[in-house]
Amino acid sequence: MSEQQERANCLILGSGPAGYTAAIYAARADLKPVLYQGLQPGGQLTITTDVENYPGYPDGVKGPDMMMDFQKQAARFGTDIRFGLATSADLSVRPFRVDIDEKTQILANTLIISTGASARWLGLESEQRFNGFGVSACATCDGFFYRGLTVAVVGGGDTACEEAAYLSKLCKKVYLIHRRDELRASKVMQHRVMKTDNIEMVWNHIPKEIVGDKTVNGVLIEDVKTGRVERLDVDGFFVAIGHTPNSGIFKGQLDMDGNGYLITRSDSTQTNVPGVFAAGDVQDHVFRQAVTAAGSGCMAAIEAERFLADLD
Ligand code: NDP
Repeated sequence: MSEQQERANCLILGSGPAGYTAAIYAARADLKPVLYQGLQPGGQLTITTDVENYPGYPDGVKGPDMMMDFQKQAARFGTDIRFGLATSADLSVRPFRVDIDEKTQILANTLIISTGASARWLGLESEQRFNGFGVSACATCDGFFYRGLTVAVVGGGDTACEEAAYLSKLCKKVYLIHRRDELRASKVMQHRVMKTDNIEMVWNHIPKEIVGDKTVNGVLIEDVKTGRVERLDVDGFFVAIGHTPNSGIFKGQLDMDGNGYLITRSDSTQTNVPGVFAAGDVQDHVFRQAVTAAGSGCMAAIEAERFLADLD
């Protein structure tokens, strides 16, 4: 039970590009947004190094610095930015009830969910140790740094195939390590991977340890059938075993697909509950870019503004 209740005209959950962009627009529209940053203030970009594909930064920008800029811009127009994580929600009543850290209950006229998605990791100690130093979960963010080098991608779904295909254009060689002998990915992606000369499939193997000095220089992989361990020399290691959208507290209340991604109406951020909007990676498993997340955050704020105007 939450100890205190507060009202908010527009409640935004999440502090990645979608959440902060929604906040900038909502604040400028005088919706007086309250934004809770969630578990990882700044979102997934705070665990990347240089961002070189966000328009407006011709020399690139560090992910954490960019998110500080987003935050400052949202604050400049009066967004009430707070630490805190939404722990439960009741969207069957109006105003919506959202509990924060089980302490504060926000009664919200509109809700923008931009809680993002979290990359799944293998769970190896070495994977955490080399994170940002040769280990990445985003080829479009970090692939550029491995131009002309050899990298490995682990996974067998569309994400892994897409990452491998993207990296194959930049890198000398890409190993695609998969734990089975067939890919889960769509046929079109499988075909793309198979016909790319510099992608080598490593079937029936799982990574056991990522090795290196200051940065990665290899990965130890185990044959799942024989238990034999061998080393691949690689300069980068990309984990692509899926993402988990942070939508758990809305299960049973909002429409979502089989993987938990929130479903929005086409050309809109509107969910199945009027007044609840979803923006960014929590509703997008296809593009997953900072710039597309920011774009959908903008849409959500504009839609929230129109929703409130129609109530008046
Ligand atoms: P998936 O869940 O489809 O695939 C995850 C892959 O990682 C599987 O091959 C799985 O192996 C493997 N894996 C999972 N855990 C481990 C582990 N601990 N160790 C080793 N391997 C592991 O996730 P994706 O992110 O690839 O795709 C998610 C959804 O998004 C899918 O519906 C996909 O179609 C979609 N998508 C669509 C895209 C597009 O349309 N352009 C692009 C990217 C994703 P196994 O197969 O053995 O289970």
